[in-house]
Amino acid sequence: MENGGAGNGRPPASAAAWNFAASGTLLGLSALSVRGVLGRIKAGMAAEDDGGRPVIPMGHGDPSAFPCFSTTPDAVDAVADALRSGEHNCYPSAYLSSDLPYELSADDVYLTIGCSQAIEIICSVLARPGANILCPRPGYLFYEARAIFNGMEVRYFDLLPESGWEVDLDGVQALADKNTVAMVIVNPGNPCGNVYTYEHLAKVAEIAKKLGIFVITDEVYAHLTFGQNKFVPMGVFGSVVPVLTLGSISKRWVVPGWRLGWIVTNDPNGVFQMTKVVESIKSYLDISCDPATFVQGAIPQLLENTKGEFFEKTIDVLRQTADICWEKLKGISCITCPSKPEGSMFVMAKLDLSCLQGIKDDMDFCCQLAKEELVVILPGCALGYKNWLRITFAIEPSSLEDGIERLKSFCLRHSKPKVLLET
Ligand SMILES: *Cc1c(COP(=O)(O)O)cnc(C)c1O
Repeated sequence: MENGGAGNGRPPASAAAWNFAASGTLLGLSALSVRGVLGRIKAGMAAEDDGGRPVIPMGHGDPSAFPCFSTTPDAVDAVADALRSGEHNCYPSAYLSSDLPYELSADDVYLTIGCSQAIEIICSVLARPGANILCPRPGYLFYEARAIFNGMEVRYFDLLPESGWEVDLDGVQALADKNTVAMVIVNPGNPCGNVYTYEHLAKVAEIAKKLGIFVITDEVYAHLTFGQNKFVPMGVFGSVVPVLTLGSISKRWVVPGWRLGWIVTNDPNGVFQMTKVVESIKSYLDISCDPATFVQGAIPQLLENTKGEFFEKTIDVLRQTADICWEKLKGISCITCPSKPEGSMFVMAKLDLSCLQGIKDDMDFCCQLAKEELVVILPGCALGYKNWLRITFAIEPSSLEDGIERLKSFCLRHSKPKVLLET
């Protein structure tokens, strides 16, 4: 029974008898993952309630389970053909196309196991003692988890809700010092659903150049835009400042399980060669594993054969669900969205705790909401943004309407009575 202590948070007394222990750094990191936080929220929730109401998932980043977001048969054919051809049973070379004011060569593209591995690689390549990296807040905390794991410091600059979640450029300047190596932007934005203009990206490039750092641009939602601003790749500014572009097929083709992503060096001036960043990316790849060869082999056909209609259909559904989300959230008084989403699949909403009772914070809000209404939403604490919510609208339109109705009745039920507010 001495070893029955598992689960009480303390190691059993006999652990000291062993010569090994787990990495202390790793143990705290799951708190920084969306998966970890959503897991805690779902833990207290039934599969459906007495009335047979289904769970409405609005916390995820993977809509592939919804029929209206299923991938195109062209992509499936590309993988099946690659597999049947028998030609991709060895390690093939990289292939990717792009539209920029200069030519990329195959040497500029490194295939990775999804965009996640691209982030892992970059954080390993950059980590040297004392180095720090600038990340956006609210943000995608996977960067922080990987940076910390590699012993690198993360500093946060703000995205400005009142200016369409643009980068606080003065904040970036104030944070940077001699040990700052790079800044990260996510465009189109997760979690904010924003899409940056050419002009704003030009300013980001200028600031980075001035600070002597490079830009890591996470473009995993590239082309998933449905508002005023069209998607502009940061690589357009590669001759102003070196840019590492990270991407994948996960979101645009809605196939996150296929695990194929890339790192692209947008650097016509060869700065990444000079500073040996390229060499160390190659080195990293030499000591890690590759994406499945038949998925790599499918990429040329997948890029070539995917019809415009598939992309248009996805965009149309996202535009429709973003509209529903925006209009219906307006009717909930303790929640405000500073701007309408124009890209990706998320919107950020501010929680006004002062008009609610019996709710401590965003995590508490999401746990109680999941328990009472079977609606799953990601709390801002998972994005470094306390007391906000990230709502995913990439689900079936009818489920989304249902989910927001339930969110509304939850808020009404937990509202402070008016009389109380006046005293
Ligand atoms: C989903 C996501 C990723 C990870 O993409 P995968 O290709 O599935 O590994 C990276 N960055 C952001 C901002 C994401 O939303």
